[in-house]
Amino acid sequence: LEADQLAQDTVANIKQTDDQLNAWITVQEDAKPDQDLDFAHHKLAGIPIAIKDNIITKDVKTTAASHILDNYLPVYDATVIEKLKEAHVTFVGKTNLDEFAMGSSTEHSYFGITHNPWNLDKVPGGSSGGSAVAVASGQVVAALGSDTGGSIRQPAAFNGIFGIKPTYGRVSRWGLIAFASSLDEIGVMSKRAKTSAQVLNVIAGQDEHDSTLSTRAVPDFTRFIGQAVKGMRVAVVKEYLDAVDGDMHDVIEQQIAVLKEAGAIIDEVSLPLTKYVVPDYYIIASSEASSNLQRFDGIRYGYRSKDAKDLLDVYVKSRSEGFGEEVQRRIMLGSFALSAGSYDRFFRQAAKVRTLICQDFDRIFADHDVIVGPTTTTPAFDIGSEIADPIKMYNNDILTISANLAGIPAASVPAGLVDGMPVGLQIMAKRFDEGSIFKVADFIERSN
Ligand code: GLN
Repeated sequence: LEADQLAQDTVANIKQTDDQLNAWITVQEDAKPDQDLDFAHHKLAGIPIAIKDNIITKDVKTTAASHILDNYLPVYDATVIEKLKEAHVTFVGKTNLDEFAMGSSTEHSYFGITHNPWNLDKVPGGSSGGSAVAVASGQVVAALGSDTGGSIRQPAAFNGIFGIKPTYGRVSRWGLIAFASSLDEIGVMSKRAKTSAQVLNVIAGQDEHDSTLSTRAVPDFTRFIGQAVKGMRVAVVKEYLDAVDGDMHDVIEQQIAVLKEAGAIIDEVSLPLTKYVVPDYYIIASSEASSNLQRFDGIRYGYRSKDAKDLLDVYVKSRSEGFGEEVQRRIMLGSFALSAGSYDRFFRQAAKVRTLICQDFDRIFADHDVIVGPTTTTPAFDIGSEIADPIKMYNNDILTISANLAGIPAASVPAGLVDGMPVGLQIMAKRFDEGSIFKVADFIERSN
């Protein structure tokens, strides 16, 4: 069977290329397509897909790239995995990420650093760096990632591929190892927007296990591929363009000119709260993370310290030895922001700022279809160059974070090269309007 051959060739190719890239944590050597592939009803039947290793897969090790979960064998599938199984895709394994999806470079993994296929000395971005590299290097045609503050879009931009974070509530989070539950969203990465539209068709929609999931009907996202952008109202955010300079600025301006030439109506708008989004996000995300990560206590699952003397010792030692430095930093930051003495000054304030940010987007989307701008402030940086400076690393996320705070869909589509490395055009739309994003992304792909 051809699909059998495809699965075998995919695994063989991963094994050959991944020594250099380290995009995978687990490769399923015995990967096989579904028994009775139904090509007539399932467009993705037999297609090998990569899964970020913070998405739970039954009987396949799921680590979140953490020492604390490095022997965790889930007994159930995430809803997105169940849905992909129903669509008869072929699973070939689990991809590398920053531990618990905390990071922007895939340098914070217990399983080592992932390398950017465009230049092995550069980071692939993060936290879905493994998924991005698996797609960009041609190991698979599509991958699932997760995006809490940019973890799909930023690595997509750094690797010259398409990546979409759907609307909060569009895709079930059941079985996604929680980082920050009000921001987390599962999404898709692929070379072309059309492929992601096909995968999103499969994974989106109803699931009784996730109470934050929307009951709205899911459109056929491929319907938006091949459409004209004439008459679309496109907002360009001044603060986003001001965040980039030089060649990066030119590349983005060029894409905006392409849209204008095709008849889109371009408008400059302002999001003055942009300067607060990084601290706002890091307070909210870390607070939620400190709560979500309480479950890793050395008792129920995962790593347990060998030399604990009493119960408290089991907790403290297992967590101190099991969590990496960045995860511990977030837990401390979050516990502090939520503590009795600081809750009002930090968490409550951050929640209020978040509401104002949402209102700003509503205002813009009242008379615009999409916002376009740069996905990142720079192309991929050198491995090792930012890891010692967490604040610098956090500030990288300024352009992607707002979409998560507001729960709106956002994607990155390849926009060109800067210093030989790919950069992305970010496209945002109003809640549940992924369609407009696919329309613009596909148009940009066709024009470049
Ligand atoms: N870089 C951001 C962080 O470290 C976003 C991560 C993500 O989207 N998972 O929190």
